[in-house]
Amino acid sequence: MKKKILVLGGGPCGLSAAWELSRYGHDVTVVEKESKAGGLCITNEYKGYRFDLGGHRFISKNKELVENVCKMMGDELLTSNRKSVILLQGKTFDYPLSAKDIFLKMDLWTNLKAFTSYVIAAISRVVFRKKDVSFEDWIVNRFGRALYNLFFGPYTEKLWGISPKRISTDWASQRISLLNLKDVLFRLFKLKRGTPRTYAKGYYYPKKGIGQMFDIMSEEISRMGGKIILNATVSRIKAGNGGVEGVCYLQRGVAKSIECDAVISTIPLPDLIKAFPEYLTANIIGHTAPLTFRSVRFLNILVDLPDISDNTWMYVSEGKYIMTRIQEPKRRSPFSAPEGKTSVMLEIPCNENDEIWNCPKEQLLKRCLGDLKELGIDIQDKVIDCFTTSVTHGYPVYSLDYAAHRQKLFDFLDQYENLITCGRQGTFRYIFMDTAMEMGITAAQNLMLDNLWKKADVQLMRSEKELIEVTSVTA
Ligand SMILES: Cc1cc2nc3c(=O)[nH]c(=O)nc-3n(C[C@H](O)[C@H](O)[C@H](O)COP(=O)(O)OP(=O)(O)OC[C@H]3O[C@@H](n4cnc5c(N)ncnc54)[C@H](O)[C@@H]3O)c2cc1C
Repeated sequence: MKKKILVLGGGPCGLSAAWELSRYGHDVTVVEKESKAGGLCITNEYKGYRFDLGGHRFISKNKELVENVCKMMGDELLTSNRKSVILLQGKTFDYPLSAKDIFLKMDLWTNLKAFTSYVIAAISRVVFRKKDVSFEDWIVNRFGRALYNLFFGPYTEKLWGISPKRISTDWASQRISLLNLKDVLFRLFKLKRGTPRTYAKGYYYPKKGIGQMFDIMSEEISRMGGKIILNATVSRIKAGNGGVEGVCYLQRGVAKSIECDAVISTIPLPDLIKAFPEYLTANIIGHTAPLTFRSVRFLNILVDLPDISDNTWMYVSEGKYIMTRIQEPKRRSPFSAPEGKTSVMLEIPCNENDEIWNCPKEQLLKRCLGDLKELGIDIQDKVIDCFTTSVTHGYPVYSLDYAAHRQKLFDFLDQYENLITCGRQGTFRYIFMDTAMEMGITAAQNLMLDNLWKKADVQLMRSEKELIEVTSVTA
């Protein structure tokens, strides 16, 4: 008999699960809270301009996934090269940071401090076997205090909204390229040959924004017989002795429910847990509270200029500036702005309902234009219009003990063999869209093989402590 499968959340993970299941003719329904599927990967259109929720790009280590996405997108997929920089103290540095660049652009005193603290850190690591407890330790032990204070500390605190002393090391190893000073010195004195390790530069990007990928995927799911219910917020999981039996949701204020044989959930892990009210103990609820998410507000500015720069991303390290990254969407696709015009998108981290979250658009624009001018991007007289967008679940906050709390919630869910939680919000992991898609596809394949109980294989995918971008299959 055909199984009735529910997918909770229609972001890249949920849609990929539904895509895989409908390809094999399964009865699948996606339940999505918003009026459009795509999750963090939607693109908003306004007056002929297109803005993602923080410019996205598609790269992956998985050749099969890349091939399937290319096939699905056909001519709608562009290939681009990335060029990212860090803006600091009126100077522009390479991203990822390169020791040679720092050496050439910083004054002698800063270089001396950076070098001395790097050497102290390197020696301390070996002699005192210094352990990494927090993100701050991880960076200071590898780069030294001076570079931490310049580049990493202020940026990280602005992004996460908490001291890097309270952030787990887990985030660092996959995301931060090691500045190999030893390597640079060896090459300088010709003691080493060969090319240094480099980042993947090429990436894929749809003509009409990242959301186009998931618009096309949604159309394919519907064409193959899958259903996507929009404006539907999951509110309760109906469970019995045999596992999960159905899901209740609210659609435009009306309570509805659907029966099911299995569930692939991609909604935020704490929300999924709270949807089991009859079965929760105070202890379990206690483990949901520390798993918080950092929100992001995006200021999307329409600009009456043909171009602003040739950078894909500009990282803003200093804490005095409100934004973490500046993006010109046209660098990803020329279809992001009308001909002869361009746009700027700013990523502004915040917490839901704080001062930034509630700041009126005009006030935010004034503040940001001032910041941009100081950073050397003066577009004050060129603004055509602007609008803001926001996400509540931008980044899972990796507090020092987040993994232990998350494990307790996974353990609670393990009693339901026919339910798996996956995706970025569902596993509380800082993963990219390709890993979210792989998780959805693998969960669907496990379900089709009656192996849905094999949860760790899916939830821990790509958790190897290796820089993601170095080994990706790119455009
Ligand atoms: C600023 C920013 C930039 C990024 N840039 C990149 C990039 O360049 N490349 C890259 O690969 N990745 C990037 N990412 C990461 C990428 O967006 C995520 O990895 C991806 O969206 C995760 O997909 P997901 O389906 O797991 O989660 P989501 O996209 O968050 O989808 C979850 C879905 O569940 C729905 N939902 C939540 N609660 C409920 C409920 N109660 N009932 C029903 N539905 C619910 C949500 O509305 C959402 O649609 C970026 C992320 C951010 C924040």
